[in-house]
Amino acid sequence: MSVFHCGICQQPLTGEVAPGQPLRGPEPPVGHEVVSPRMAQGTFKVNFNASLLIFHPDDVPGTALHPDSRRLSGCCGLAGQDGPNLVCSGCGVEVATKESDCWTGNLVALIASAVAEGVAPRPGLQ
Ligand SMILES: [Zn+2]
Ligand SMILES: [Zn+2]
Repeated sequence: MSVFHCGICQQPLTGEVAPGQPLRGPEPPVGHEVVSPRMAQGTFKVNFNASLLIFHPDDVPGTALHPDSRRLSGCCGLAGQDGPNLVCSGCGVEVATKESDCWTGNLVALIASAVAEGVAPRPGLQ
């Protein structure tokens, strides 16, 4: 299991996660409905050119919404088409883009160059 940390302040950004496969591919939107998450909770997938790490939307408790509201545009959720819209809740650096709109995927994409992967501490050994 791994935990991804902020590359600047080392705060954990994700829960414990393991590599996995997407539950489903992109689907054409059906009305104003947010699709089910791309990844199962607790799993992540590296994208095709290793620039992004795709997570379940609930697997990034160490992030906060971007302070610039122009990054938070969307119809039913966050479109994520205007640049990163999640920041590290510890130091405020941009670390991820969340897509949760009716015409996008439902996922969080961590920016690989902004985060560091660490091994999750084993329970009871802290
Ligand atoms: Zn909508
Ligand atoms: Zn940070």
